[in-house]
Parts: sequence; C-alpha cells; structure tokens
Amino acid sequence: MQESMSYECRHMGGYEFDLAPIGGPIPFYGTWVCKVHENYNNNVYTCECCKFDRDGMICCHILKVMKEVRVYDIPETYILKRWTWDAAAVLGETGGSEKPKLR
Ligand SMILES: [Zn+2]
Repeated sequence: MQESMSYECRHMGGYEFDLAPIGGPIPFYGTWVCKVHENYNNNVYTCECCKFDRDGMICCHILKVMKEVRVYDIPETYILKRWTWDAAAVLGETGGSEKPKLR
C-alpha cells in the first residue's frame, strides 16, 4: 500500500493504465513504467510485474489502479487462504514442533 503512493496512475484509455514512479526509482521496480489492465466485468486486474502470479500478493500497481477507479474492497480473487487467519487449517502442520501462532 505504501509503495502505491509512489506511483502516478495514467489512464491510457479503455481499461489500460500506466503506473509511473514519482520522484525516483522504487525498490524492486526501479523506474519501470508498469502496465495494468482492468477487467471491469469480473474485477480482475492484471499487471505486467506478475507479482500476484509469483508471490500470491497483490502488487502496488494494482492497488493504485483500484484506488483510482474507486474500488474500495479487494476482490475475493486476490485474498488467498494462505494469507488469512485460517491458513493453518489450509496448510496443515508446518513441519516444526509448534503450530503457527495465529491471533
Ligand atoms: Zn504490478
């Protein structure tokens, strides 16, 4: 969320957005202008950085576009069970002697 504030969102027409860094390189992304596509019909956003596909976490570029288009609730598609409080039930034992402590 914090990194999303370091980008300017430019609407390129249709459902295409360019995210340009403001004020210098961004950690892990540098000065790369990232492209995000919004599929308005099913709340699916694709970003060419592919962070969600790689890490299972939504990227700062998509968060910025969501804010621009006034999406205030993160779509269920982007909330993987492994990042929720129910993760232990989904993942099972961690292999260690203790179960993960969840609040
Ligand atoms: Zn991205």
